Amino acid sequence: MTDKPLVAVTGASSGIGEAVARTFSAAGHPVLLMARRLERMKALGLTNAICRQVDVRDREAIAKAVKDAESEYGSVDMMFANAGIARLADIGRQPPEEWDEMIDINTKGVMNTVHAVMAGMMERKSGTLFMMSSIAGRKAYPDHTVYCGTKFFVHAVSESLREYLSGYNVRVIVLSPGVIETEVLSGVLDRGTLAAYKENKVKMGGGIGPEHVSEIMLHAYQMPQNALIQEICITPTRQKY
Ligand code: NDP
Repeated sequence: MTDKPLVAVTGASSGIGEAVARTFSAAGHPVLLMARRLERMKALGLTNAICRQVDVRDREAIAKAVKDAESEYGSVDMMFANAGIARLADIGRQPPEEWDEMIDINTKGVMNTVHAVMAGMMERKSGTLFMMSSIAGRKAYPDHTVYCGTKFFVHAVSESLREYLSGYNVRVIVLSPGVIETEVLSGVLDRGTLAAYKENKVKMGGGIGPEHVSEIMLHAYQMPQNALIQEICITPTRQKY
């Protein structure tokens, strides 16, 4: 058993979410891991971990996973609303179904995730919400149109939530990474966009590892509750845009 508080992560089956689950677990926190690929989360073999098959579009499933984990490890003190997909594409030829998917997962999924823990944090007057945006939530790219829209949404919601929750002593930290080496490109189905992305990535010497994101997040989390790093914008040094 551990006396550190419970942390929860959506999209914990790969990439940045997986790295955050590993990093916070190594720091002694019990972890609630949520994603659709249950076996991938179980295979991480983390101690004091609860793995739940959750689709973030299912508000009740997130709430139930949180409730079950809290009954075992106490209240969630940190939630990472991370699950997301990047159907990057030329908007002129992108099937609208791809917009639906991104909007549902990247925006409504984030709200469902926040909703599962926000009231408890307000009541306890403590807690930290990490919100996964992107560098594409600060700057628009012509071949990321709807993806940028979903990430600008996360930025806007985070700004608003930060002000709203400051009176409750709850921290809201927005993440704005550049190119990170994960499985995210498997969601890019538009060949031309994928080729252009990869070409740009080679020019910058490749992406950086997700462990850099998780380590800086742990540092931000470990600051005293009255100290807030409002945004973490981390990119490869050679990433220009
Ligand atoms: P990965 O593809 O490696 O991870 C995405 C995670 O999200 C997986 O664990 C996946 O799990 C989960 N996920 C996707 N859809 C759902 C869903 N409907 N319900 C629950 N979980 C879901 O990519 P990243 O780690 O890169 O992506 C994580 C976040 O980081 C995303 O929001 C992405 O937009 C953002 N980001 C990534 C950057 C990068 O360069 N990699 C840069 C900036 C932001 P499963 O499929 O098992 O459900």
